[in-house]
Amino acid sequence: MNESTLSTKAAAMATGEDGGFPAQQQQLPGSTDRMEPVPDHGEETWVGTGRLRGMRALITGGDSGIGRAVAIAFAREGADVALSYLPEEQDDAETTAAWVRRASRAVVLCPGDLQNQHTCAEVVEKAVSGLGGMDVLVNNAGVQMARDHGIEDISDERLDRVFKTNLYALFWMTRAALKHLTRGACIINTSSIQAFEPSPALLDYASTKAAINNFTVNLAAEVGQRGIRVNAVAPGPIWTPLQPATQPEDKIKAFGADTPLGRAGQPGEVAGAFVFLASPAEAGYVSGTVLGVTGGKPVF
Ligand code: NAD
Ligand code: MG
Repeated sequence: MNESTLSTKAAAMATGEDGGFPAQQQQLPGSTDRMEPVPDHGEETWVGTGRLRGMRALITGGDSGIGRAVAIAFAREGADVALSYLPEEQDDAETTAAWVRRASRAVVLCPGDLQNQHTCAEVVEKAVSGLGGMDVLVNNAGVQMARDHGIEDISDERLDRVFKTNLYALFWMTRAALKHLTRGACIINTSSIQAFEPSPALLDYASTKAAINNFTVNLAAEVGQRGIRVNAVAPGPIWTPLQPATQPEDKIKAFGADTPLGRAGQPGEVAGAFVFLASPAEAGYVSGTVLGVTGGKPVF
């Protein structure tokens, strides 16, 4: 099979009344098995060619969705990986870990809530000691909430959770990891189309993603002299547990239909951007950029 097979399958997976997915709801953090249809993380399609041979990567939010697809692709490209996730996501993390082991690579499991800076430091230390070092940090954990609309409906509790998970943890994880990253290493952050085309229902989330773009460019300027590259991937609508866990049902039914390609993407369709940015041979001179994987929505 090849990647066009995944695109064809991705188009066939959206069968909701409005061009999206069947009506469904979950609670955060969401689970993969409860999704209908279960997302495609490239399990049957990604073919590794040794582009990340011998590298060591920590992927936050690595249990499910985009993080799982990145873990599978990284492992098949020859990298050992550590996965960070919330303790209640152990089942999803075990499934991802099994795919990494099937690719004959080592995997380190690092559960913990990254809203706490001590946990961030512990996760980095566990990953570094388990992998014997770190070459790539993928700051991919993130949360949104879109069932209450309007600034008056954004509680302080929600604001704290969204900003701490998406931004504070980004600073804390990066600060802890930089102690271990040397020349040739890189950081890849997960941004969003929401940084460029914000939805009013995601006022808080979209602001964090715009900040992640700014952080990416600015940190790239700071650590460039140390030979460390910093980039971001900005996905469009991707079918992951985050969506049924945070969007209202009517948004799920039409999820992704408003993109130029007319459909949502599958997590496996985003992994290639991360592999490219992580690969020293292909992206050794790429830093401070935000790469869109949006189904055609503009990222400028
Ligand atoms: P997902 O739910 O599969 O992954 C998000 C992960 O974040 C969770 O699995 C969880 O492990 C982790 N996480 C959340 N809160 C955490 C906390 N407090 N501590 C530790 N880990 C925590 O969904 P996904 O869509 O794959 O999300 C991955 C990233 O992609 C997020 O940053 C999200 O904002 C971004 N993104 C997603 C989409 C989309 O349409 N799915 C679009 C643009 C950007
Ligand atoms: Mg998850």
